[in-house]
Amino acid sequence: MIKKDKHFFEKYSRQMIMDQVGIKGQDKIIKSEICVIGCGGLGTSVAQYLSMSGISNFNLVDFDSVSISNLNRQTLFTEKDIGKKKSKVLSKKIKEINSLAEANYFDEKVTSKNIHNFINKKAIVLDCTDNFESRLLINKYCHDHKKILVSAAIQNFDIQAFMLAPWLDNDNPCYKCIFPELTNDNEASCDEMGIISSVAGLAGLIQANLTINYILGLKTSFKEFILLDCINLDMKKISIKKNRECKICN
Ligand SMILES: [Zn+2]
Repeated sequence: MIKKDKHFFEKYSRQMIMDQVGIKGQDKIIKSEICVIGCGGLGTSVAQYLSMSGISNFNLVDFDSVSISNLNRQTLFTEKDIGKKKSKVLSKKIKEINSLAEANYFDEKVTSKNIHNFINKKAIVLDCTDNFESRLLINKYCHDHKKILVSAAIQNFDIQAFMLAPWLDNDNPCYKCIFPELTNDNEASCDEMGIISSVAGLAGLIQANLTINYILGLKTSFKEFILLDCINLDMKKISIKKNRECKICN
């Protein structure tokens, strides 16, 4: 339980001063429990900004270690962290931002056997993975266990982001509704595609922003596909529909 003392009010004063946040909103932020799967370009940005907002309860999942080629985009990792486990380093960095935060880390690859251990009681899941196998697995778990799923993907200078909750309403789509044909054969990882620091950071920031909006009860759509072209800074929102044939959410 985080004590609401002078330090607390001072730390979050710039956001609590807004009508959309206030003491009640900050309380909702503090009490939110988050699972971040994938602690790379998206996950580090997500975790950093959600932690700064006051979110104090994280599960962080990643099986990988920090490498020198990660440092162009994976904020919070530095040259000193090379070779160390990403989830563990991220947990330490979150505690440096907020010493009262609980940041559990899991040095594991997400599978159908262990996914429950990571998400379990966390209400909001940030999918920050870079492969379709994990994304489809997380999508199914979130649907079956009624979790809010916040997802993003990056391809060169393009960002895709969306929030999903197919269990909440009969018309809400799931990830599989949007990408019915996906398999691991269609994917290319960041290593093959190339990615620049600001695009990765922005994608994570969009996820963090969607999450905060949802927590605060601000405008949230579970039927919107956000596309951001980072060269022209052109943002589009496409309405997405449930696939009535989808085997996951029907
Ligand atoms: Zn579906």
